[in-house]
Amino acid sequence: MSKKKLALFSVIIANITIILSACSNNNTSQEFDEMTTFAMDTIMSFTLETSELYDTQEVFINVENQIRQFENLFSWRIENSDIYSINNSQAMDYASVSDDTIEILEIANIMSEETDGAFSVTISPLVDLWGFGDEEKVPQYEDIENVLEFIDWRGVYIDNENNSVALAQDNMSLDLGAIAKGFVAEKITDYLQDIGVENGHFSLGGNISTIGLKNDGSRWKIAIQNPLDANNHLGIIEASDVFIVTSGGYQRYFVEDGITYHHILDCSTGYPSDSGLLSVTIICNDGTVADVLSTAFFVMGLDKSLEYLQNNDYVEVIFVTEDGEVVATSGADEIFDFNGEDNEFSYRVVD
Ligand code: AMP
Ligand code: MG
Repeated sequence: MSKKKLALFSVIIANITIILSACSNNNTSQEFDEMTTFAMDTIMSFTLETSELYDTQEVFINVENQIRQFENLFSWRIENSDIYSINNSQAMDYASVSDDTIEILEIANIMSEETDGAFSVTISPLVDLWGFGDEEKVPQYEDIENVLEFIDWRGVYIDNENNSVALAQDNMSLDLGAIAKGFVAEKITDYLQDIGVENGHFSLGGNISTIGLKNDGSRWKIAIQNPLDANNHLGIIEASDVFIVTSGGYQRYFVEDGITYHHILDCSTGYPSDSGLLSVTIICNDGTVADVLSTAFFVMGLDKSLEYLQNNDYVEVIFVTEDGEVVATSGADEIFDFNGEDNEFSYRVVD
């Protein structure tokens, strides 16, 4: 997380990945209030239109409280969180959990199956071994081999009737790092729409939700960062009422003996994925799916992801490859203005 952040036009900084343009000078009566906080290990920022229907300051407090409640369920670090309880139970010992935890783990299992295990919340022992979020180091090969048998989404058993979850083996444990922020973004968007928010946007560490329009009637602008240079971007998405999430190796990494190791791991090898991609941006009307697929596609690589998209047309994607190509699906192309030529990236649209 050491990349330098920059401001573009009159922008607020959404995260190191994506830069979201804030409301520009207004010629209408609409006004927007802003709030920034730190939760779930990341910076979160909110911009909401003011309205007679609600008090934005009160809404910000409610939103923050809800996020902290989710964090208290989903963080493996927080003692007595649902995930902590599951991780610290014996094999096949069912831990009682909340409805939200059942829901997120059910989605996780479905998405693991759909992505052929490229995404798996059972990644935790590997994340631990690599020390991500803690003291990062390249593990011994034998240690990686030893934990690979515990990375298996099929070993997450969900008992819907009793709201409880068990893991198949003692050494298995869960890490919701690739899905939790997307799930929370989805829930917060539902809440905001329920109370009557018509225009605004927020970013939970790069999991962006756009609601309605800017005050001049145009769509929200989100810049796609150049993964090779935090000081410039490869183009701008103009979005309304969608979630936009980017995963990239540049977002968290360490260097050892001149080699860069990033935080998105390949469940089949135990090493940082090496699929030829620098970043994947998902545009989707489901926040949870957007978060999962950005991580999964990053692991799967361009060809496998495009195969997946043949049967699933509910997401639009912008891939940035190590070969210097920006590849957009046709739906993404319609709302994306590529400007990466100056940085020697080429652009291609796929059906
Ligand atoms: P994201 O930033 O959404 O791509 O998620 C990355 C985070 O998810 C990492 O920091 C790990 O905690 C976790 N993670 C890494 N690799 C995987 C994977 N293959 N499947 C699921 N979660 C992963
Ligand atoms: Mg993700």
